[in-house]
Amino acid sequence: MAEDRYSWAEPALEEVADGVFRCPLPLPGDALRAVNAYLVRTARGLLLIDCGWDRDESREALLSGLRRLGGAPGDISAIFATHVHRDHLGLAGWVRQESGAWLSLGLGDRETQVAFAENPARARQASLDRLLSCSAEDVVERLLAADQARSDAPWAPPAPDVYLVGGELLLPEGPALRVIATPGHTRGHLCLFDKGRSILFAGDHVLPHITPSLGVELPLADSALASFMDSLQLVRELPATLVLPAHGPAFSGLRERVDELLDHHRDRLERCLEVVNSKGSTAREVAGALPWTRRRRTFSSLDPFNQMLAVFESEAHLRVLTDNGRLRMEASAGRGRYLPQEGPGAQ
Ligand SMILES: [Zn+2]
Repeated sequence: MAEDRYSWAEPALEEVADGVFRCPLPLPGDALRAVNAYLVRTARGLLLIDCGWDRDESREALLSGLRRLGGAPGDISAIFATHVHRDHLGLAGWVRQESGAWLSLGLGDRETQVAFAENPARARQASLDRLLSCSAEDVVERLLAADQARSDAPWAPPAPDVYLVGGELLLPEGPALRVIATPGHTRGHLCLFDKGRSILFAGDHVLPHITPSLGVELPLADSALASFMDSLQLVRELPATLVLPAHGPAFSGLRERVDELLDHHRDRLERCLEVVNSKGSTAREVAGALPWTRRRRTFSSLDPFNQMLAVFESEAHLRVLTDNGRLRMEASAGRGRYLPQEGPGAQ
């Protein structure tokens, strides 16, 4: 069963639709296992959608996929990164250098791209500061210890040649691929909709097995969950019969999966409300009280990176509850505490 669940991540070149190839690139040591790059035949060479880490393993897997198509990096004419995260944009600089292809990124991810390219240490500090505002000192300590144990240099995301905002037709020569703005996972996250073949290239917006993390970017979003849920409603209405996610196998049933994700977050909102103490709780305390991942792991069993994601996600839920008037937030010394709403209408 466990083997089946990750069979999509095995090295392969799968033709998922006519002229559309799924090429998983490994993410060694990462729980996600792999990221799917998609190669799409177009009137002007190959379009590459997302490209894994800037590591030899991803390079080799991409080269091998291209060879199976009888091609080489020079056949790639365009690179579309669904968002700024390293597993989607990591190799883009190298591919561009080898191919002369242009690279696009969502405009909403520009600040994150620039912040990490200019000063990775300062960008990192912003995440740590946000954790401190959630009273997650323990997670900061673990992250700093993990940073010290790492030897690889910080990654500098490449600047794109073009920024997209959504609504554009990506390749005027065809096939007709419409850019769809889907903020939430990151502010600038984009999907691509292939109307002719009814395919949604979903990036990290709709994944078949896991719920995407929210708002891991700079500056950290205040309303990542609300944006994400709006973006789910938006793609729910698309007539897509095939969904091509960045992590996991190709699947059908877009609406059903979107509804599951919406239900999951509605359920999490209620659980957050349940665990908020009458004296007030921090996002760190709420994260510690909830189960995580589909295997319902305890917070303390997560690695520090996933603990950070869990704290941010809890905070995103608490913010939605505050915006909806179901909780109130008190800040003191730069730290937020969430309290049950008082007075009429209190639950
Ligand atoms: Zn991502």
